[in-house]
Amino acid sequence: MDVKNFDTRPVALEIKKIVVENESTNTYIFEYPLNGKPGQFVMLWIPGFDEKPFSIAYDDGKKFWLTICKVGPATEELFRFKVGDKVGIRGPFGTNYEVKKGEHIAVISGGYGAAPMYFVTREALAKGVKVEFLTGARNEDLLLYRERVKGLGGVNLHLSTDDGSVGHKGYITHVLEKLLKEKKIDKVFACGPELMMKAVGEIAEKADVECQMSVEKYMKCGFGVCGQCAVDDTGELVCKKGPVMPWKYVKKLGEFGKYHRDAQGKKHYF
Ligand SMILES: Cc1cc2nc3c(=O)[nH]c(=O)nc-3n(C[C@H](O)[C@H](O)[C@H](O)COP(=O)(O)OP(=O)(O)OC[C@H]3O[C@@H](n4cnc5c(N)ncnc54)[C@H](O)[C@@H]3O)c2cc1C
Repeated sequence: MDVKNFDTRPVALEIKKIVVENESTNTYIFEYPLNGKPGQFVMLWIPGFDEKPFSIAYDDGKKFWLTICKVGPATEELFRFKVGDKVGIRGPFGTNYEVKKGEHIAVISGGYGAAPMYFVTREALAKGVKVEFLTGARNEDLLLYRERVKGLGGVNLHLSTDDGSVGHKGYITHVLEKLLKEKKIDKVFACGPELMMKAVGEIAEKADVECQMSVEKYMKCGFGVCGQCAVDDTGELVCKKGPVMPWKYVKKLGEFGKYHRDAQGKKHYF
């Protein structure tokens, strides 16, 4: 099969494997040389239904994974798909996390954000980078990628749950704040709910540590044509300028941490 990127055309791919992560999250495995980087995303077309953006959870050049939470109509429809069914994939799109040899990084996530953070962790380890992996969830059952990260070896795993069922009781951002006081960290990467990432950006800035985060805005085309993901107040398109952006840029986006827009452009305040 041709190895070049898909550019903007969809490719019909068979779902090769589905890993059930928990009651509302599945990982879909496709065999295809997507050649995506950690932080980039694809547009997944659910035939006859809708097309939605999803971060690449892993890509080894031969197969790639998407970890998807069932949250509404499109993802509910996708969860009816079985191994052997086909979906359309466009991409990879957008910017990626940038890690350099010899660094010591902290990656922090909430929810499905653990998936792209796992991908960046694997890339970082291959470059000899030390990784602190922080992830939090409401309870133990909802913590994603914990066992996979343990399986990598050589990663310091920090967990938190709101109910204290495992790890620190409370927010994972509290764990980050403490960690940045105790260890010399070169960069923080974040992926998760917007309000969590805002807190991460502020904590990293206070500790004078560079921070990159994945900004998620409503996307339709994924490659800068439709204008749906234009952000206030700069008007730039998150699908092209992002989704991974440095905190020093994100903090200047007037809407970040305040509201997001739906398919019609209507504002929804957090
Ligand atoms: C760059 C990027 C990467 C993402 N990566 C993942 C991922 O790895 N795993 C995952 O489970 N989800 C991911 N999402 C979110 C995912 O796109 C939405 O959960 C999905 O589109 C929900 O559709 P729905 O019809 O099931 O739910 P809805 O009820 O329509 O929406 C549920 C939530 O998802 C948001 N959403 C819906 N459609 C879109 C859209 N087209 N673009 C952006 N947000 C949307 C809504 O604003 C709402 O907050 C990502 C979003 C972006 C922008």
